[in-house]
Amino acid sequence: MKALAVMYHDVVENGNYSASGFPGPGADRYKLDRLEFARHLQAIREAIRNQPVLLTFDDGGVSAHERIAGMLEEFGWRGHFFVTTDFLGLPGFLDVEQVRDLDRRGHVVGSHSASHPARMSQIPWERMVSEWRDSREYLAKIVGHPVEFASVPGGFYSRKVARAAAQAGIRTLFTSEPTASEHIVDGCRVLGRYVVQRGMGPEWSAGFAAGRVLPRFRQALLWKTKQAAKVVSGGLYLRAREAILKKA
Ligand SMILES: [Zn+2]
Repeated sequence: MKALAVMYHDVVENGNYSASGFPGPGADRYKLDRLEFARHLQAIREAIRNQPVLLTFDDGGVSAHERIAGMLEEFGWRGHFFVTTDFLGLPGFLDVEQVRDLDRRGHVVGSHSASHPARMSQIPWERMVSEWRDSREYLAKIVGHPVEFASVPGGFYSRKVARAAAQAGIRTLFTSEPTASEHIVDGCRVLGRYVVQRGMGPEWSAGFAAGRVLPRFRQALLWKTKQAAKVVSGGLYLRAREAILKKA
């Protein structure tokens, strides 16, 4: 049975969205309140039965350690935490000790690039490789073993981004494309994910996790609209994304 991957970011308390991860309204809409997230986990547990599901968390906000890991552990689950290494130790972000502790507790720690470029797919090849390699090597030094998982910042995936990841030693790369199908690029496994935003009911997460068709279909449709806008230009895409998400 194929594992489906669900993408979260931060989980905050009492609407304090600036407490974890990247600041600003664009980032905030991907952050869930603790009670909301707890309902998602409950719904996922009821929906998945024996279906494997990967719960992934982007950016490396401090809530990964302060809140999310413990909540997952109550369900006997472990998360995939993708860390933006240049931000380690900054306010709102994980520090080195917290990353080491997540790894020690059995969670997967992976790279979310070094600097979280605004448009990962547009930067020069050399920089693309070093974004992956620098962050991967830094994380490996922290946890004391190779780090082979990563997720693409901002959803700016291209085949070149995957080739650069493969060259830097990444073996599994998560995109933001809402798909359950996977493919291999230069030996690196590329998997899609279903994104969860604040205000999406627990039934959405549960639906993605259990592989239900309707929420997956609706998200794929939204994704195609975003991709069409992205083709026009990266800058326009960022504005189009704002517009689409407001309507969604
Ligand atoms: Zn990100």
